[in-house]
Amino acid sequence: MMCYTDSIRVQKSLYWEVRMKKLFGSNGLSVAMILVGVLILAASGILIGMQVGNSMRQSAYEEELAQKREYEAKAQAEREAALKAAQEAAQAEAAQNTAAPTATPIPADITMTTEQLAAAAEAIKGVGVAGTSTVFSYADAQKNAGISLSTEDVPQPEGTDAAQTPGITITPTPTPLPSKIVCIDPGHQAEEMTDTEPNGPNSTEMKQKVTSGAYGEFSGKNEYEINLEVSLKLRDILVSRGYTVVMTRETHDVTISNVERAQIATAANANIFIRIHCNDVDESEVNGVLCYGPASDNTYLPQEIIENSQRLCEVLRDNQCAVTGQKALNNLYQNDMTGINWASMPVSIVEMGFMSNETEDLFLASEEGQNQIAEGLANGVDAYFAG
Ligand SMILES: [Zn+2]
Repeated sequence: MMCYTDSIRVQKSLYWEVRMKKLFGSNGLSVAMILVGVLILAASGILIGMQVGNSMRQSAYEEELAQKREYEAKAQAEREAALKAAQEAAQAEAAQNTAAPTATPIPADITMTTEQLAAAAEAIKGVGVAGTSTVFSYADAQKNAGISLSTEDVPQPEGTDAAQTPGITITPTPTPLPSKIVCIDPGHQAEEMTDTEPNGPNSTEMKQKVTSGAYGEFSGKNEYEINLEVSLKLRDILVSRGYTVVMTRETHDVTISNVERAQIATAANANIFIRIHCNDVDESEVNGVLCYGPASDNTYLPQEIIENSQRLCEVLRDNQCAVTGQKALNNLYQNDMTGINWASMPVSIVEMGFMSNETEDLFLASEEGQNQIAEGLANGVDAYFAG
């Protein structure tokens, strides 16, 4: 049986059925249901799409975050490393400062008087640096002629009193003041000097300033060439052994008289003065080595310099012959040699051999011969200062 309510429901149902049929025809309900289904599907699609989009955004964000964290971690590690290095450096510096007084003792300063300071500066200016060589022009010699300091006068660090003069201090340098100065005079020059000069201080006897020297017909060389070649080799050996070497010339084209050569040695405060020459006589068979020095009665030189000059002559000749095997001839001590009489230190003229003898002329001109002679003479210098 149908109650009133049911009747109303049926009526409503019929009402919607009628309206649907009006809207969509007799199959209106089916079409409506399809429409609803389509709507549901569309809604689902939108929801899924949103979900996927969210998911993609999420993963991109996470990736970015991971990169950021990695970067932060790296930066932090770098900051820590830098901090650690700075701390270690500071610790090392502190340790070094603490250890400095014992690990590397600071050399005590040397105190000199004002006079000593000036004298040392003047002496150093005059002679150059130990272990080097210098060429003195005659102008230099004249300029420095006022210097009368001998090596003994040069203040030595050991002897100075720190309490002597407050205020002036010199920090010692690695190179000590030069102790041994050798002046080498390569005999003669390209052109002789025919003018004359006194053969000794206050002497009335005049001698030619510079003679032309010998010529070796076998070697085809001039004496002044061989003299300079050996002198340069001797210079190099002496410098390598720590001597200070002063050369009167290092070229042939000079005009320096024998008096001037001696004055150069004096201006340089040389301890010894070695004059390099070759011999020449008419007899071609004569050969051997000899040195000229002052005679014992030389009036231009003090006795001590005469004796030391003769000792220098002996050690130079003997040491050259020991290396070269040449014959040692008697040395000649006489008082007519200008370059000896004007010297103010032990002096020797080395006659290295005879250019008038074929064997010695070729030996003197040869590279090997010159090397041997230079080595022998350098040994002689060592022997002189050791004696
Ligand atoms: Zn000569």
